[in-house]
Parts: sequence; structure tokens; C-alpha cells
Amino acid sequence: MIKIIISVASGKGGTGKTTIATNLGLSIDNVALLDCDVEEPDSHLFLDIDLEKVEDVYLSVPVIDEEKCDFCGKCSKFCQYNAIGVLPSKVLLFPQLCHGCGGCTLVCPKGAITEEKRIIGIIEGGTSSGVEFYHGVLNIGEPMATPVIKTLKKRISKGKNAILDSSPGASCPAVETIRDSDFCLLVTEPTPFGLYDLKLAVEVVKHLNIPFGVVINRDGIGDDRVEKFCMERNIPILMKIPQSEDIARLYSNGKPFVLEMPKWKEKFVQLFDKIQSGNV
Ligand code: SF4
Ligand code: SF4
Repeated sequence: MIKIIISVASGKGGTGKTTIATNLGLSIDNVALLDCDVEEPDSHLFLDIDLEKVEDVYLSVPVIDEEKCDFCGKCSKFCQYNAIGVLPSKVLLFPQLCHGCGGCTLVCPKGAITEEKRIIGIIEGGTSSGVEFYHGVLNIGEPMATPVIKTLKKRISKGKNAILDSSPGASCPAVETIRDSDFCLLVTEPTPFGLYDLKLAVEVVKHLNIPFGVVINRDGIGDDRVEKFCMERNIPILMKIPQSEDIARLYSNGKPFVLEMPKWKEKFVQLFDKIQSGNV
């Protein structure tokens, strides 16, 4: 069977996205689970796992040799991110704004710019219940999550299925995670807030042209507006997880519920098979 990449996303935090990603990952064979919510990774809390650092994530940022520089301003003009300012006799660098594109080095006519590596985060990994697991951790105070996500996604291998737990929302980190997935599961709750955020998430996956379906978590609370919205738009609802004391108790103990409730493991396997076969 062909291996697939499934991203799990949601328009807002707290909808149960990580619950879906971990339970799905623990239900299927030959899988890597990647927690791409690098600003607040928490999937590992639901896995019995010893994490080890596997690599640093760094950006190549410019270093200016003012002996060679004639303060022409070409580097500053080139930089789209305002990471370099040139004064009459000084070049100001703002490393935290730098995206490490290397463009300023190329445009400098005096060869006054070299690059140095600045570590912005790490990738950690381990194995739990047969699941290969990795997550990225963005260093505190660093503004750019996407280089960490890009590095993390290099851990996806052709011979394995991959489940990517995205950060919530519809901004750059979520887009970076979802991009290149074969399928995206959008997790929501049947509430007005859930619907509002689902609509934003739907726009993102449509824009990225990724096939997608919806998982309704805590089904039974709220109202039926999410279901009506999905029906009107022909969006498949692939799973409903009821508001359940048993599931909530396992969640609060950091236990994926498929480990204690085999019928749910079966449902996640069926969900995966459906997506893998393109029968959504
Ligand atoms: S482009 Fe090079 S020479 Fe010009 S201001 Fe920037 S560092 Fe200096
Ligand atoms: S590497 Fe790119 S983003 Fe960084 S300062 Fe140079 S031009 Fe700007």
C-alpha cells in the first residue's frame, strides 16, 4: 500500500487536535508521528517515551565586516524582512528578523558579508509503542517557527506513513505543516467558536489544494451548525468523538484512549484505511 502523509489541524487550540493525532498514530502500523506545534509541543505527554535530541535547527545569519563595507545600502534594500539597516557609517543587524535567505550576502558588492549559524531550536525524537516520534522545539523568544517545522518534516521517510500534528490556527506554522500533506484532518467542536475557526481552516486547506475531512470532537455539546456547514459544503465528516467521561478521564491522565478502548482503535484504523484508499 502507498504510504501517506496526514496532517491534523484545527482553526483554534483546545479542540482535541493532539488527541486525534496521537490516537491515530497509535492505531496504525509503520508510522512516524511528528508534533509540528513547535511553539508548544505536547504530543509527547501522551506517549510513554524517552526523548533524545537528534539535531539542532539553525539559521545562517549575516555577519558584516565593516572594514570591507562602504555602506552602500544594497543589503538593506534587498532584505524584505528589515533585518539589516545601513547608516552612513554603521550597519545594524536585527538577527531575530533574519530569515536566513542568504540574499544580502549575494548582493553585497564588496564581499563584506559572511554567514554564521544561529541555533533557533532543536529536534527531539524517540519511539513509543512502535511509533517513531519526533517533535521540534523552538527556543524561547525566537519568532520563526517555520524553519524548525521544515527541518522536522525532513524526518518523513518514503517507507512510512506520517501523521503531522499541526499548530492551531491558520498562520504560517500551520500552513508550513499542512503543505505537501496527502490529506488533512480538520478537528473541530460543535460550537459557534468551533464553526468560526473551522471556516478559517477550511479556507487554508482549500487554498493549499489539499483533500480534507472533518473530525468532530466532543460531539453532543453545542449545536448542529458545524454539521450543517459541512453538509452544505460537501465536506465529509469522517469521525465524531462523543463528549465522554471515560475519554476525558483518560485524557486528563495523559493516556491516549485507543490504548484502553479497542473499539476506538478499530475506528481509527477504519478512518486511516478510508483516507489511504482515497475513499473519502
Ligand atoms: S551591501 Fe555590503 S557594502 Fe553595501 S552596505 Fe551592505 S554590507 Fe556594506
Ligand atoms: S539573510 Fe536574508 S533575511 Fe537575513 S538579513 Fe540577509 S537578506 Fe535579510
